[in-house]
Amino acid sequence: MTDIDRAAFGEQLAALFRENGITLPSDGQAEAFYRLTDHLLAENERYNLTAITDLPSILLRHYADSVCCAKYIPQGASLLDVGCGAGFPTLPLAIMRPDLRITAMDATKKRVDFVAGSASLLGLSNVRAVCGRAEELAAGEMRASFDCVTARAVAELRVLAELCVPFVREGGIFLSMKAKSASEELAAAQAGIGTLGARLSAREDFALTGNGETLERSALLFKKVRPTPPTYPRPFARIKKKPL
Ligand code: SAH
Repeated sequence: MTDIDRAAFGEQLAALFRENGITLPSDGQAEAFYRLTDHLLAENERYNLTAITDLPSILLRHYADSVCCAKYIPQGASLLDVGCGAGFPTLPLAIMRPDLRITAMDATKKRVDFVAGSASLLGLSNVRAVCGRAEELAAGEMRASFDCVTARAVAELRVLAELCVPFVREGGIFLSMKAKSASEELAAAQAGIGTLGARLSAREDFALTGNGETLERSALLFKKVRPTPPTYPRPFARIKKKPL
């Protein structure tokens, strides 16, 4: 990316965050986003990490979209990002919220390696990256151990809930950010989420704007009120075939 001017980058990022009511990055945080962008675009030349490669779209669809959920995450929380891919929302959240202790999980090793490498490059000591499948890791020591579990663009809500809710401790939250389909996904998932031991505690609908675009977003917050029965999550093939 090195042809993008640092100062112009910082101004665009700040303008976008301001437009969307997101806490503005400090100079150090803007520099971290700049270096992340450089690293993401360079590594994306070597292997496929993201289809979004023009700067305005990266700022809106990766950075602002990842950070807009920050206000729902309690101070100092332990956070699990299921299916983190190239690090979204993990890396933008880690930059903007040094108080969080983030575990980024993905089934694909090259993506996990990218996230771990980026965290190390940016000096983000609040991120660890784990390679594995959620439905398998949920049976182990990570079960019921996180204050907050989130996931972006991984699966429809009723599938996603079975992958995520088992990791939430009692009293913690499962935070799902959805686009236009939120109401339908919620209607289909409500009963299953109850079975998993969680219930909807808040919903906030808003729009992310920038780059001449408007992205509809719904933040769905589910509170874990009971332990998840040990039979969940089931093997992935069963979850897909017969969603809760
Ligand atoms: N959250 C990122 C990536 C979305 S793509 C973003 O918003 O950009 C979906 C990612 O979820 C892929 O990287 C895929 O490997 C991962 N994934 C899908 N099912 C998974 C599962 N059961 N366990 C762990 N990771 C999974």
